[in-house]
Amino acid sequence: MNNLMLTFSGLELSRLRTLVEAVGKEIALVPGAATTAESQTPWTALDMTWSRLVEMLDLGTEPEMHECPACKHLCMLGATRCGHCWTSLPTLKAKENLAA
Ligand SMILES: [Zn+2]
Repeated sequence: MNNLMLTFSGLELSRLRTLVEAVGKEIALVPGAATTAESQTPWTALDMTWSRLVEMLDLGTEPEMHECPACKHLCMLGATRCGHCWTSLPTLKAKENLAA
């Protein structure tokens, strides 16, 4: 469920997922971050807050890819142009794709 009035393109969502994952890993790498709740440090608090934020963002999993009709390069669902040959792509949304 996503009640945020934010709209991201597929590429932006993909970048967000990458960033969220990177921050999560960086938090986990901080010494003391993996300690128990009894010995809570500012980092465990940050880790918990971050987890809640990630949950709220509800970025989901990476979307399915679809093939460029011209060069067969795999493109993000929702991409308007092929990243390989720059051909205009039919803009498919996940739901429309499922209905098709
Ligand atoms: Zn292409």
